[in-house]
Amino acid sequence: MYYDIVIVGGGPAGTAAGLVLSTFNKSICIIDKSFFPRPKLCAGIITQKTIQMIKKILPSFNFDKYVNTNKICLFSQHNTKCEITLEYPLILVEREQFDYELLLACKKAGVHIFEQTTFSEFIPEHNNLILMNGDILSYNVLIAADGIFSPIRKKIGVADIKKGFCLQNSINIYPNNSSLACLDKIYFDFANIPFGYNWILSNKNSTIIGTGVLAENTAYKQAFTEHSKLCTKLGISSSLGLRGAFLPIGDIANQLMHPYNNIILIGDAAGYANPITGEGIYYAILAGYYAGQAYQMDNKHFKDSFLSLISVTENDIKEIAKLSHHFYSEKMINNIIYQLKNCPDYISNICDEVFNLGRCSYQYFFEELTQLFR
Ligand SMILES: Cc1cc2nc3c(=O)[nH]c(=O)nc-3n(C[C@H](O)[C@H](O)[C@H](O)COP(=O)(O)OP(=O)(O)OC[C@H]3O[C@@H](n4cnc5c(N)ncnc54)[C@H](O)[C@@H]3O)c2cc1C
Repeated sequence: MYYDIVIVGGGPAGTAAGLVLSTFNKSICIIDKSFFPRPKLCAGIITQKTIQMIKKILPSFNFDKYVNTNKICLFSQHNTKCEITLEYPLILVEREQFDYELLLACKKAGVHIFEQTTFSEFIPEHNNLILMNGDILSYNVLIAADGIFSPIRKKIGVADIKKGFCLQNSINIYPNNSSLACLDKIYFDFANIPFGYNWILSNKNSTIIGTGVLAENTAYKQAFTEHSKLCTKLGISSSLGLRGAFLPIGDIANQLMHPYNNIILIGDAAGYANPITGEGIYYAILAGYYAGQAYQMDNKHFKDSFLSLISVTENDIKEIAKLSHHFYSEKMINNIIYQLKNCPDYISNICDEVFNLGRCSYQYFFEELTQLFR
C-alpha cells in the first residue's frame, strides 16, 4: 500500500496534521494502535488559543457540547485562596469524545484511518512501515504523532525526552458530596509540590482530581504522595479510578539528529508542551497545522520546512522551561497567589493574555509580577 503521507498516531497532533493535509489532494492515512473512541488520561482544559487553532483547521467543530468556565480558583502552599475570572472562558473537553470527533472529521475529509494498527518494523531508509499483519505501508513523508513514548522517535535515533508524571482520578459526579458536586470553577492548588500542581474540575460527566509533577527525577514518588494527600482532603479514596501518565516538560526532541528529511515528529512525540502549565493540546494542534503548511511549502525538504515554521514555538517552550524554575520556586508561587488576591481584575487580565490567549510572553508575565511585588 502506498500513501503520499502516513501519520502514525491519531491524537490531536496527528488529526490536526491530517485535516490540514487533506485539503491538498494527496493520499493520506493515519494509523493508530487504539480503537476509537479510546480513553486518554487528560484534564481536558482547552485554552482560547487552542479554540482559535481548532476553528482554523475545522471550522465546523462544535464546542457547545462541552462545559466551559471562566472562573479559576488558585491555592498556595499556605492555603491562601485567590479567585480570578477570565474574560474568555476555558473549555473542558472529554478527551475520549474530543479526539474521536477530530478523527471522524479526518475520515470525512478523505483520510484513510487504520485503527488497532501498529507496525512491527520500520525501515526509514526504504520509506516503509511493516504492519503487524505483514502488510507493507510505503510513504513519501511520514509524520510521527505517536505520543510521549514515540516508537518512531526511538527508531530514527532521536534521543529520548525528559518526562513529568501525572496522576488523575475521574469520578462520576455525585451531588451528595458537597465538596465534589459538579463544580463551576477550576481549582489549581500549588500545595507542597515543588514543581507542579493539583487540579480539580468537573466536565459534563465527571469530576477530575489530578496531580502533576513537571520535573523528571522525583516526579513519580511526589505525584503519589501529593495526590494521596489531596484525596484525603477531599474525603475520597485515592485509588478510586486512579490512572497515571507521563507528559513532556520542555525537553524538546532534537530532530536535527536524524538524517531523514521526509520524517518529522509532532505533539508529545516531539516534546511540545508547556513546562509551566503542562498544556499540550494547543502545541499538538499547532505542530499538526505547521506540518500541513510545511508540506505545502516544500515537500522535498519537508523536515527543514517544518523545523523552520516551528522554531519560534520551540524557542518559546525552551524559554518557558528556563522561567519554570523561577515560577515554581516556593517564594515566587506563594508570593504570586498572595499578591493576586489583592488585585484579581488586573491578574485575570494578565492570565488571559499570557496563558489563555497566548498574546503576551511568559517573560512579560514575570516582568509584570516583578513590578507588582516591588
Ligand atoms: C494527566 C494529564 C493531564 C493533561 N491535561 C491537559 C490539559 O488539561 N490541557 C492540555 O492542553 N494538555 C493536557 N495534557 C497534555 C496532553 O494530553 C498531550 O499533550 C496531548 O494529548 C498530546 O497530543 P498528541 O496527539 O501528541 O499525543 P496523544 O494524544 O498521546 O496521541 C498519540 C496517539 O498515538 C497512538 N500511538 C502511540 N504509539 C503508537 C504506535 N506504535 N502505533 C500506532 N499508534 C500509536 C496512541 O494510541 C495515541 O492515540 C495532559 C497530560 C496528562 C498526562
